[in-house]
Amino acid sequence: MIEGQCLCGSVSYIYHAELEKTILCYCQHCQRAQGTMCGWNSPVDKNKFEIVRGIKYLKEYFHSPNKARVFCQECGSPIYSYRVDLPDIVRLRLGTVTQGHIPAPVEQAFIQYRPVFMKVEG
Ligand SMILES: [Zn+2]
Ligand SMILES: [Zn+2]
Repeated sequence: MIEGQCLCGSVSYIYHAELEKTILCYCQHCQRAQGTMCGWNSPVDKNKFEIVRGIKYLKEYFHSPNKARVFCQECGSPIYSYRVDLPDIVRLRLGTVTQGHIPAPVEQAFIQYRPVFMKVEG
């Protein structure tokens, strides 16, 4: 089981399963949206993902029509994203995890935007 929350604590969630894989995404949308060099995400089953507190604080931003980036509008923490054409999958933002095991990343996307000082295996 995985638990997590946004920075201010208005939003918290439970994932009623384990994380199977994690991904580093260096695309420029993730860089802008997260304010950092990459997104660290895990695709999870939406049917096992539960917002336990603060659903009213969640805001969806569509930078492209098919993809929503969902964040806490109190503190700005990115919580997850989802694709409109893949409604059963949520891409959890792993910096918000407070409890549970996070596996090491098995995939890196858009490494052409990865800063040269980052040396990561794989
Ligand atoms: Zn918050
Ligand atoms: Zn990305």
